[in-house]
Amino acid sequence: MKEVKQFQTESKELLNLMINSIYSNSEVFLRELLSNASDAIDKYKYLSLSSNGKMPILEGDIHISVDKKAKTITISDNGVGMSKEDLINNLGTIAKSGSKDFMSKIKEAKEKKDLNIIGQFGVGFYSAFIVANKVEVETKAFDQPGYRFVSEGEDSYSIEEIDKDTQGTSITLFLKKNVDDVKYDEFLEEWKVKSLVKKYSDYIRYPIKMMVSKSRPVLDKDGKEIEGKREEYFEEETLNSMIPLWKKNKSEVKDDELNDFYKSKFNDYEDPLVSLFVNVDGKITYDALLYIPSHAPYDLYSDSYEKGLQLYSKGVFIKNKCKELVPDYLKFVKGLVDSPSFSLNISREMLQQSPYLSKISENVEKKIVDKLKAIKNTDFDKYVKFWNAFGEHIKFGIYSSYGTKKELLEDTLIYHSLLNEDKFISLKEYKEKMGKDQKYIYYVSGESLDAIKMLPQIEKYKKDGIDVLLLNQKIDEFAIMMMREYDKTEFKSISDESANELSDEEKKKIDDTTADSKRLLDTLKEALKDEVDDVVISSKLVDSPVCISTKDGMSLEMEKTLNEQPGSEGEAKSVKVLELNPEHDLFKSFVSIQTDDELVKKYASILLDEAMLLEGRDVKDRASFVKKMNELLVIALKK
Ligand code: ADP
Repeated sequence: MKEVKQFQTESKELLNLMINSIYSNSEVFLRELLSNASDAIDKYKYLSLSSNGKMPILEGDIHISVDKKAKTITISDNGVGMSKEDLINNLGTIAKSGSKDFMSKIKEAKEKKDLNIIGQFGVGFYSAFIVANKVEVETKAFDQPGYRFVSEGEDSYSIEEIDKDTQGTSITLFLKKNVDDVKYDEFLEEWKVKSLVKKYSDYIRYPIKMMVSKSRPVLDKDGKEIEGKREEYFEEETLNSMIPLWKKNKSEVKDDELNDFYKSKFNDYEDPLVSLFVNVDGKITYDALLYIPSHAPYDLYSDSYEKGLQLYSKGVFIKNKCKELVPDYLKFVKGLVDSPSFSLNISREMLQQSPYLSKISENVEKKIVDKLKAIKNTDFDKYVKFWNAFGEHIKFGIYSSYGTKKELLEDTLIYHSLLNEDKFISLKEYKEKMGKDQKYIYYVSGESLDAIKMLPQIEKYKKDGIDVLLLNQKIDEFAIMMMREYDKTEFKSISDESANELSDEEKKKIDDTTADSKRLLDTLKEALKDEVDDVVISSKLVDSPVCISTKDGMSLEMEKTLNEQPGSEGEAKSVKVLELNPEHDLFKSFVSIQTDDELVKKYASILLDEAMLLEGRDVKDRASFVKKMNELLVIALKK
């Protein structure tokens, strides 16, 4: 009995787009369907190996056939096939994350009227509708009846049970009519199919077979060739070389091939930023293709994101996302590892315990980090692109490893800096530019570069030409705390009370001013004792009257970040110091009335409020702040 079902809403949108699209990259459909066929065979192989002989072992193969009269092209495999539920879940809905990503991109593209970008995506099964107006799927899974799924790309599809002896899936595309210079019937031509298979699917590990026409001399009844007479005959030919890309000779593999492989395998529409082809032969042996995408996968920050590399053994697929193969901080890395050290029917538990896995993982990690360092040295613009997309993860790597990865990763770090016009510099460069007497690597943190540049603390550093790293990511200070030093030079926050390096002369001046304004400082300290630990004469300020610094390592930014963590109840508390600018008129006015304790106390909170506002924070008591400001305004305006 034939059942008619509705496509899921998202699928309908995607289908409509496919069926109504005419663009130059229509050929990607074949790559998508062949890679589905190959995946299906992988899956069957995996299941049969772990079925204790229940499921027969099959040699996987894929067939392409064309029917010029009916204008159809059929792709058949002997892979896992699909049950009825599978058909509904896999083809009736968009299961694939890449397709969802695609839908959001396509919306942008639609606005820009740039439908050509469709061809850059891998949209899986639905790409059939780029070239076909009707798609028929016949499939049979092990121990299941056969089913036929038919869709004409409209809102619904039909499913019915059929007699099918052979296991696997066969997908028939009824090609669209040619439109102007878009010739869909070209896909019925042998040369076209052959060239597409070579171009996109050569590395598929199973033979992709097709009946191809050949010609031979006609023989007479004695078996002799008749001169000048030839006949056409058909013979099955394997179109792909079947050598997995990573098994090819490194020198024969072009960058384009690596990139195309990435795009089709990992469903990205953009070339990867970095492709890395490694062969390791020694204590451990493996080949790997490793990729850093040029943009963060859209679901990288969602809980459902699964990190990991594909694992193969001797060219045979074992596991899709083997998370043990990459550390968390490199979770954005895509790729695969093929190592003869694993047996094909290794169980999940055994796999996890395998000593090879962690060895390969360490090695992969090092290869990636080395490559990043090399790019940083040879193509800084590219590195900055990487850093903008994934730099935060590297810092996370330093932090979450409690500094054990410091040595490995410290030379990958780059930061914006005060004297470097917002450009990035590395720690090495910072050190090279440091003055002879400069004791520390200075940094300051804040919510954004703009906010940081408004901090009063940086005034003096700017004036003195001392560079300061500008940290605008939450993880920054935590990573720096874990590192503590770089190349034997300690990091120091300029928001730290002890940051300034003063000459004896400067020190004396501060001490003298402190002595002269002792009464003022004492009164302020008393008045603000619930908020700040100390009130001191500052050596950091140039134009601003006040600033807040902190003691004991926890900065205001860190306090904020920690208190924003889920489950936190505001326990994190930094030790704050209010610093006053001795050169500022405001300070001088306060000193002039310092014997009037009551008056000092009355306006003490405004000094703190100003400092907090300059830090980009809120004042503690807004109503009281406004009331005091108004009193002052009234006096000022009366004059
Ligand atoms: P993807 O292959 O990226 O998951 P597709 O849209 O191409 O996305 O396919 C959706 C799902 O349909 C696949 O994940 C797979 O489960 C199933 N499927 C597609 N083609 C085949 C096939 N030839 N044999 C078995 N299952 C298939």
